Amino acid sequence: MITIKKFIVNPIQVNTFILHDETKKCVIIDAGCFSEQEQLALVNYLEQNELKLEKLLITHGHFDHILGNKFLAQKYNVALYGHKDDEKLIKNLVPYAASFGFSVAESVLIDNYLNDGDEVTFGNSTLKVLHVPGHSAGSLVYYSAEGGFAIVGDVLFKGSIGRTDLVDGNLDLLLSGIATKLYTLPDETGIFPGHGAATDIGYEKTHNPFTLDIY
Ligand SMILES: [Zn+2]
Repeated sequence: MITIKKFIVNPIQVNTFILHDETKKCVIIDAGCFSEQEQLALVNYLEQNELKLEKLLITHGHFDHILGNKFLAQKYNVALYGHKDDEKLIKNLVPYAASFGFSVAESVLIDNYLNDGDEVTFGNSTLKVLHVPGHSAGSLVYYSAEGGFAIVGDVLFKGSIGRTDLVDGNLDLLLSGIATKLYTLPDETGIFPGHGAATDIGYEKTHNPFTLDIY
């Protein structure tokens, strides 16, 4: 069984998730930790729960979701997984973050590319990779059929959807991806967005004003 732990990090209030199972092996999704205190909070959680970090995953390459990858990749000697289409965002982290007022060091780059339909494993657990572009070109969702949840990054929020006014944003693509890849999941599927509160597919289908017409 997968245990999900959420940390809210950096001034943009990104949700960083640590997922582990009974083997105590874990992955971190969207390591947005920025301050030393935020880095330490993740390290302490791993140590206190005796977890072994196996992989760093990103839902997408926006700067607020990737600020902690360099620290964690170097400390734990783990590889970064993400979609190739967001690589340019990661390569341009320094000027991109600066345009939002953040002074940051360069990021580590993606070591292993993920594509739609791939599976990411840790311990006894498997996450299915769904490619849902539109917020960014390389936005990914990590879905656990067994756990009944999905980590969706900035694709879908409680009552909202990801913004599409940034580089490679595309509202039509985003909505069609939500319709075909998320709203086809079971209604009770738990949704863990990159910002804000958790929700579920059934709630969003009936309450999300941005998606009422798409399915
Ligand atoms: Zn984003």
